[in-house]
Amino acid sequence: MKKVLVIGCGGVAGVAIQKCAQNSEVFSEICIASRTVSKCDALKQKLEGKTKSVITTAQVDADNVDQLVALINDVKPDIVLNLALPYQDLTIMEACLKTKVDYVDTANYECEDTNDPEWRAVYEKRCKEKGFTAYFDYSWQWAYREKFEQAGITALLGTGFDPGVTSVFTAYAQKHYFDEIHTIDILDCNGGDHGYPFATNFNPEINLREVSANGSYWENGHWVETKPMEIHRTYNFDGVGEKDMYLLHHEEIESLAQNIPHVKRIRFFMTFGQSYLTHMKCLENVGMLGTEPVEFEGHQIVPIQFLRRLLPDPASLGPRTVGKTNIGCIFTGIKDGKERTLYIYNVCDHQECYREVESQAISYTTGVPAMIGTMMVLQGLWKRPGVFTVEEFDPDPYMEALNKWGLPWQVDENPVLVP
Ligand code: NDP
Repeated sequence: MKKVLVIGCGGVAGVAIQKCAQNSEVFSEICIASRTVSKCDALKQKLEGKTKSVITTAQVDADNVDQLVALINDVKPDIVLNLALPYQDLTIMEACLKTKVDYVDTANYECEDTNDPEWRAVYEKRCKEKGFTAYFDYSWQWAYREKFEQAGITALLGTGFDPGVTSVFTAYAQKHYFDEIHTIDILDCNGGDHGYPFATNFNPEINLREVSANGSYWENGHWVETKPMEIHRTYNFDGVGEKDMYLLHHEEIESLAQNIPHVKRIRFFMTFGQSYLTHMKCLENVGMLGTEPVEFEGHQIVPIQFLRRLLPDPASLGPRTVGKTNIGCIFTGIKDGKERTLYIYNVCDHQECYREVESQAISYTTGVPAMIGTMMVLQGLWKRPGVFTVEEFDPDPYMEALNKWGLPWQVDENPVLVP
């Protein structure tokens, strides 16, 4: 009988909380907290009478460590699941450390104000030393390793789909199919159509910051950086068909490069339609993706936050999105002295997700693994003092749980490779 405190009540949290509520044998109590408690109350109301889990709600500003500590002391959870934004990762980890409670998230730390001089100095040093310029990286959270070890608590980082399931697929391939994995191509395909000329499938600010940035990949022990959308391929995805995809920087490349011993190259590709790319380029060209405040008629406005207000709420896309996602990893390497290739992937249908939890597949494919990762720590299967990414644990119970909780996966031992 365990109690989870979920911070955030947006698209991903909505799914994760419903999945925890379906799994009330593990999650006997769920406390939902964000700044807007009315949203948490609405979700609680939706679930009432449909679950044995006891659900409570609370108000918290997760940018404020003292507020978080007070909430954790009041709720006394066994674990905190952070489904707010990557901006809140460090404050929530700090509060978990102070209260000695386990921590789980789905995205690595990103600084909200990229002009903060203190952050900027560390960032610029890291760009020079490591060779990639993304605003997010694991160093901030890995810096907590020793503190979490000493406190005897676990932090499980990045248990969404990507990062998350894709890294568990890698650990599974390593355990059962390869002596040495040499290349990993992570392919994230969304074949869904929501009927809008332009909308993002999860938080627009985080999404647009990610896809308008330089791309990069890991090769022979170092990062190779590309211009945004410079590397383009097409791939024929099972369940979706042929799609254009583009190489992006993605956070799991950083941890997989450290944790998969013989890997020579890791790339990440995401599919985008032409309409999405044209809109994004145009918005970028006119300055609407800017993260610095501008003064407008006496008000300070951050362009990308204003844009977020104008775009459809990702949570509203559920009823209108049709089609499927296909996300997985293609591996090449060696087994018993022979070359081998492997593709592990999941196909998820937007409308089936909507029927089950009233959400589109992007939130679904992130929310389900968030619940599963939290369950792995709560059940003691993935509990170890320190700060870890998902590929550092035994993948088998997680892979089993994916099949059970709505994200069944398939293995293709003869896939078409990406050139
Ligand atoms: P949403 O914008 O829909 O939801 C964010 C939630 O965070 C809201 O409920 C908001 O509530 C809450 N929040 C924001 N700031 C604070 C704060 N200061 N204090 C308390 N709560 C706060 O985002 P998504 O659900 O789309 O994404 C959630 C997370 O999942 C993000 O970190 C995203 O990067 C990650 N993600 C990971 C993926 C993966 O595969 N690994 C894929 C997609 C997303 P309120 O405003 O009421 O405070």
